[in-house]
Amino acid sequence: MRVAVSVVNALTPGESRGRPWPAPRDLAATATEVLRAMYPTHPEVTEAEAGEYAEIAARLRAVFQAVADDDIDTAATQINSLLDESRARPMLQRHDGEPWHLHFHGTGGTLAGDWAASCATGLAIVLGGEFSDRLGVCTAPHCDRVYVDVSRNGTRRFCSTACQNRVKTAAFRARGKVT
Ligand SMILES: [Zn+2]
Repeated sequence: MRVAVSVVNALTPGESRGRPWPAPRDLAATATEVLRAMYPTHPEVTEAEAGEYAEIAARLRAVFQAVADDDIDTAATQINSLLDESRARPMLQRHDGEPWHLHFHGTGGTLAGDWAASCATGLAIVLGGEFSDRLGVCTAPHCDRVYVDVSRNGTRRFCSTACQNRVKTAAFRARGKVT
């Protein structure tokens, strides 16, 4: 899920922490960078693959947005389409000296396709469980980055402490004006 959030936030345009967040100028380089931050041995993403990643990221963002809008029906429908199209298929694998662990692969044989299958499955597990409302979009002004709330009480509202602090400071200033 952490990977899904990072890739969605890096590749989908909008606003981030009070500033405009344009679509990456070099999509392939940005995709490679964000994936390598989590998987250091990730191969360089080609331009064609980067386009695929960006398209999937946009569709994943829509799921976060639907949940933030309390529209779980739409989120579930969108996830089902992604599961269907990516033909997500669970399989135990063992590689690079790691113990057996669960992978979700698509049948397309592309990295982005496998990624879509694995993100769609991860989101499906969240949406189908008791933590379905834990997907969110930052509620700070001029920010629309997404997050997964893993806090114990599930009260997260911001993408980052940067946004949380921005809102706190603004509220403090507003109070100062009133008194
Ligand atoms: Zn934010």
